[in-house]
Amino acid sequence: TSESDWELGDFLSENVFNEAPALPVVAVVGRPNVGKSTLVNRILGRREAVVEDVPGVTRDRVSYRAEWTGHPFMVTDTGGWEPDAKGMGQSIAAQAELAMRTADVIVVVVDATVGATSTDEAVARVLRRSKAPVILAANKVDSERAEADAAVLWSLGLGEPQTISAAHGRGTAELLDLILTKLPEKPRERFAPGGPRRVALVGKPNVGKSSLLNRLAGEERSVVDNVAGTTVDPVDEMIELDGKPWHFVDTAGLRRKVHTAKGHEYYASLRTRAALESAEVALLLIDAGQPITEQDLRILSLIVETGRALVVVFNKWDLVDEDRRYELDKEIDRELARVPWARRVNISAQTGRSIQKLVPALEGALESWDRRVSTGRLNTWLKDVIAATPPPVRGGRQPRVMFATQAATRPPTFVLFTTGFLEAGYRRFIERRLREEFGFDGSPVRVNVRVRD
Ligand code: GDP
Ligand code: GDP
Repeated sequence: TSESDWELGDFLSENVFNEAPALPVVAVVGRPNVGKSTLVNRILGRREAVVEDVPGVTRDRVSYRAEWTGHPFMVTDTGGWEPDAKGMGQSIAAQAELAMRTADVIVVVVDATVGATSTDEAVARVLRRSKAPVILAANKVDSERAEADAAVLWSLGLGEPQTISAAHGRGTAELLDLILTKLPEKPRERFAPGGPRRVALVGKPNVGKSSLLNRLAGEERSVVDNVAGTTVDPVDEMIELDGKPWHFVDTAGLRRKVHTAKGHEYYASLRTRAALESAEVALLLIDAGQPITEQDLRILSLIVETGRALVVVFNKWDLVDEDRRYELDKEIDRELARVPWARRVNISAQTGRSIQKLVPALEGALESWDRRVSTGRLNTWLKDVIAATPPPVRGGRQPRVMFATQAATRPPTFVLFTTGFLEAGYRRFIERRLREEFGFDGSPVRVNVRVRD
């Protein structure tokens, strides 16, 4: 293939703008042992070909691509873990909340041979305020005789129990038909364009999240209840900052001061993840008075995984003296090296120091997250970069970069079309140069490679 054979049209015909076609999501939730995994396997038809793990999702939640009568969708299985009895109610409520924020249809599974337990009731309580349709699956109804048992599940207030036997396949075709009738054509729009920007205030316990929230909400004395055209989840809050409403997600989790004792860490991380998934930008609070810990970094990893814009907030700056400042600088170099692009702000939620710097930092990060570089401008720039520093030779061949395009925003995602594999080091080099040229401060940037052979 000579270079002149490469045409823009070739690339476009590969559908690069749909790297991962967005499919509607069906979440399967419920307490342990009710048969969630069995049902998910049943939905997948146990055909190996369709059971593909989707990269980027972590151990506690697995998504699979499924299909029913020719309609593809994603199934998310939240099972596979056994919380201790004490943390269970909370964990499962968080699981249900995560589903409400991310799924297009929720299937809640209950064991009909047991009836409604208090945990089932806790899940139902959360799901009754779901905007996404909820389907109640009464499982383990293995025979017609057992049908009658399921009637008591009406008491959950989630509508008619759909009796199934996930293990034997009884009723599952009807359940899938019902799911399809509730599935939207396209996955729901997570972020209404033009609406208030969505912020997740995250951080380990005691870093000052609720103090900051109180200060932000209190200072402006105007918690906005009703912003035209937007509906706010009861767990969220609209806070007006610098004259504009901002949508803070899951502030209930911060205000309620849920105890994060041992064993509840899973719950806390699930809740953090749920907040991140429904936010556009993360405000990561770190206690500047204390050394940066593993727990801070775990939350940072969650943010990086979800691809959100990021502002790192060093709180309790009133406690930072010269010695601590020196130590902190070293910790930042060491521990935050993976996010050199993050915006950083030093504040004190207690004294109010530098609080006014938060909004410009959030706005800057979001602007980068939304930014699109035109294909023309990108390629003019890229040609020079590559001429000056070509990709390293591999196996005697020098890969050529033919063309690049920004396939997505939020976060900015670039695709390089090449004639050979590009090493991670070279991809990072490209990312660095992209940032130098086009900004993207405060936002992750993804550089993908498509090899054409
Ligand atoms: P999960 O923890 O909710 O994912 O539950 P599993 O799918 O692991 O199932 C828990 C147990 O219930 C397993 O022993 C399954 O074999 C059993 N089970 C699942 N579905 C059915 C069913 O329809 N009928 C009966 N009798 N048992 C079932
Ligand atoms: P959360 O668990 O992250 O919500 O943290 P809190 O807001 O409950 O704060 C934990 C503790 O840190 C409380 O005793 C706060 O008074 C204190 N705190 C919060 N912000 C600051 C700050 O800027 N400076 C100082 N010195 N203490 C703070």
